[in-house]
Amino acid sequence: MKKVLILGGGIAGIEAAIHLGKIKTRGRAVFDVTLLSERDFLYVYPLSIWIPTGGTAPDKVCFPLRDLADTHHFKVAVERVEAIDPQEQSITTERGVHRYDYLIIALGAGKLKPKGAEHFLSICGDPREALLIKEKLDRLIAAGGGKIAVGFGGNPLDSSAVRGGPAFEFIFNVDNLLRKRGLRNNFQLTFFAPMESPGARMGANAVAAMGGMFKRLGIETRFGRKIREFCPNGVLLEDETMIDTDLTMFIPALDGHQLLRQSGLPLNGAGFVTINDYCEVTASSSFSPSGKTTIYAVGDAAALEGPEWRAKQGHIAEVMARNAAHNMAVQEIGGSKKGYRQHLSILCVMDTGNGAAFVYRDQTRGIMLPLPFIGHWLKKGWGAYYRLSKLEKIPRLPFM
Ligand SMILES: Cc1cc2nc3c(=O)[nH]c(=O)nc-3n(C[C@H](O)[C@H](O)[C@H](O)COP(=O)(O)OP(=O)(O)OC[C@H]3O[C@@H](n4cnc5c(N)ncnc54)[C@H](O)[C@@H]3O)c2cc1C
Repeated sequence: MKKVLILGGGIAGIEAAIHLGKIKTRGRAVFDVTLLSERDFLYVYPLSIWIPTGGTAPDKVCFPLRDLADTHHFKVAVERVEAIDPQEQSITTERGVHRYDYLIIALGAGKLKPKGAEHFLSICGDPREALLIKEKLDRLIAAGGGKIAVGFGGNPLDSSAVRGGPAFEFIFNVDNLLRKRGLRNNFQLTFFAPMESPGARMGANAVAAMGGMFKRLGIETRFGRKIREFCPNGVLLEDETMIDTDLTMFIPALDGHQLLRQSGLPLNGAGFVTINDYCEVTASSSFSPSGKTTIYAVGDAAALEGPEWRAKQGHIAEVMARNAAHNMAVQEIGGSKKGYRQHLSILCVMDTGNGAAFVYRDQTRGIMLPLPFIGHWLKKGWGAYYRLSKLEKIPRLPFM
């Protein structure tokens, strides 16, 4: 059996492990799969948006890797990866050295570090930060009022390295919570972003709808001004104006995982691993004595190629992971390879706490559909579906 190492136990790494385990020839597994993860749980980021407002709890967002590994017959080693050596086909972790025949890089992305980063919290960072945001928000609510600013940044080196959706979801959920508590008038909410038209890649309809929502809900906006620095009591913009805050939730732009920069693997300008349509790391065959492609990169760690509006999203990470598993199998047992680019789309149920908006964009269409009330429960339902289908307690739907 060929030994596969998967680096990272996020949405992409787990999907790759599940699909590699299903690949069999004459009833026998083709691959011996080990997933290396610094955490012993899968953290499902799309569900974490409700932690700060108390709409969910961390145990509903964290799935133990052991349960997934037992269900799908792969091995898990909870070890932090410290180095990737493609020439030696080896991975060094805090515990030792692992060798591979095939490698899947699914380490997620790093984050740019703006000046004064210690003065904001991020829903997209370490899972513990979601709870810190909750604590701070609870303290403001207990105090009866305050100023909250929410924003996200961009990466000029890679237009796909921006994560704005959860910032919109967060501010709408906070607004909803404050209204339910009868405290909304005591809070000043501000949404800020350095681009003129944040959310533009979701399409013109979405931007217009969001603008309307900010107005209707009385959320102030500061767009098109670069962020100079984050301060203990606010956000200083390049035009010297200050957004005063008691709580700043900011999502920095993504950049390549720090480990990749030292690996010698080919990277784009922002540090993401360059791949072809089959998720094969560019020129990775040159690292292998057999001349075969041995290294794949999937999910947020990989450099996406495609239209300007392409986005690093969970459903794209899953397609890439399934394709990488399939394409690896093609090398061992034949068949034809599958590409991810034809699947590039933006697909998002943007939650507002009391409803949602369904956002879809592909090469030909851009749709934003308001889904009052039911949209919120659709997204919650997706969370339950995701957990149960990954644990094979319910069948997987072919389109999800
Ligand atoms: C708050 C939030 C909400 C989102 N909402 C949506 C949504 O509604 N819809 C959608 O499609 N997408 C959404 N996304 C995007 C989606 O979650 C990501 O695209 C997806 O998680 C990418 O999966 P990944 O496995 O590539 O990366 P990650 O999920 O980041 O996983 C990377 C894994 O690698 C591990 N790792 C990192 N470094 C090391 C190391 N040195 N050693 C060992 N392990 C390591 C990490 O612990 C982690 O488990 C959201 C993202 C966030 C942050």
